[in-house]
Amino acid sequence: MTNIASRDRRVAPRAVAVIGAGYVGLPTAATLAHFGHRVVLAERDPGRLEALRAGRMPIVEAGLAELVADGVVAGNLRFEGSAVDAARGAEFVFLCVATPQGDDGSADLSYVEQAAKEIGPQLARGAVVVNKSTVPVGSATLVEQVIGRPDISVVSNPEFLREGSAVSDSLHPDRIIVGADDPKAAADVGALFSGTGAPLIVTDATTSETIKYASNAFLATKLSFVNALAGLCEEVGADVRDVLLGLGYDKRIGFEFLQPGPGWGGSCLPKDTRALLHIAQKAGYDFSLLAGAIASNEQQLARVVAKVETACGGSVQGVTVSVWGLTFKANTDDRRDSPALEVARRLVTLGATVRAFDPTVAAVEGDAVPADLAGLDICSDPYEAATGAAAVAVLTEWDEFRWLDLARLARLMATPRIVDARNLLDPAAVRRIGFEYDAIGRQ
Ligand code: NAD
Repeated sequence: MTNIASRDRRVAPRAVAVIGAGYVGLPTAATLAHFGHRVVLAERDPGRLEALRAGRMPIVEAGLAELVADGVVAGNLRFEGSAVDAARGAEFVFLCVATPQGDDGSADLSYVEQAAKEIGPQLARGAVVVNKSTVPVGSATLVEQVIGRPDISVVSNPEFLREGSAVSDSLHPDRIIVGADDPKAAADVGALFSGTGAPLIVTDATTSETIKYASNAFLATKLSFVNALAGLCEEVGADVRDVLLGLGYDKRIGFEFLQPGPGWGGSCLPKDTRALLHIAQKAGYDFSLLAGAIASNEQQLARVVAKVETACGGSVQGVTVSVWGLTFKANTDDRRDSPALEVARRLVTLGATVRAFDPTVAAVEGDAVPADLAGLDICSDPYEAATGAAAVAVLTEWDEFRWLDLARLARLMATPRIVDARNLLDPAAVRRIGFEYDAIGRQ
């Protein structure tokens, strides 16, 4: 059943629990509170919970602190340390826990199963459990089985927010998708979001679960196409920026996700494309297009590393390289599956000394160094990171990297060379100062 409708914006306040105060659960809880619902947010990580209770945000996200504070002050948002305490008495329980990539590429559902197991016996009669975590087809049924109660419906409600604009995306989503075998439960979940005014698509759970993976796999494929096109532009002497401008004005293509870079990454695209490929393989379907998009992304990472090696005279062994940016994209602190971090790590493996700067990463020492940053020298600003370096690699598109004093930068470096993997800088301006400059898909 598919039902696309514009929405009545009046919202009846409901009792809602949200399990997991991460990049999805926290904006979701704050948004639902903003629309007048009474929300209890459960977070089992003591550090994250303590930060929330003290009014500090455990993640970097513009506008989140204000939205959370508004919910708390209005009495619509509070925090608990356990899913059981949050779920007790709730009419709707949103599962917003991680679904990382398993060893075989499939989604690891252990956090979802564990949360479902915890809350099952505590749920109020007739409560609705909502899978907001990104989960493979069949997961609504799986959660129903784990809970094992005929009075409880499970609804799929995938999330499409983007890190870096999560608050705005949550308050103004492009669409709300709800899928369930119980149409009333699906409609009730959709009604929670009627304040957003977004189109509502009501469908079955399998279709809803497929929509989420299809969206991310499509975006990843679009980026792989753009990066491959950039490689072709380098070979034939075209400028990928103008090529993409020419493409983007075509309304069927659009400008979104049309920027080349060091490869796509982050906590969603890599795991979700692999999970969809795994689903296809299990179903006996040959989704070679998607396999190609994933392979192409691997090539892109390798091409960027090779560009840095070329800039350094063919090898980075024993060479100091500066990297600007470690997060997977700008305006977030998320380094999960970050292409920038992957390039930095590969340079270390190739024997480089890597001096790194990212606005969200502070230098720490000893045991406090996060495992993913081991082997990198973390610096406190881009100039410090570039001091004595044979090349700077621009890996994340932080806006502040555009506005630096290039003459000062050139003086600090051992040799003035830039590999701009985000096409952030103006080639003419950079070369005028005396830099050797290489970018993605440009001359
Ligand atoms: P996250 O790791 O940032 O947050 C998950 C949180 O859940 C953690 O803080 C963890 O401590 C907590 N948690 C886990 N089990 C719990 C339990 N039983 N009780 C209480 N707290 C518990 O993950 P995320 O990035 O928010 O992603 C969550 C889901 O949303 C994933 O399936 C992801 O694929 C999907 N998603 C993520 C994004 C994104 O941009 N990050 C966008 C759309 C969808």
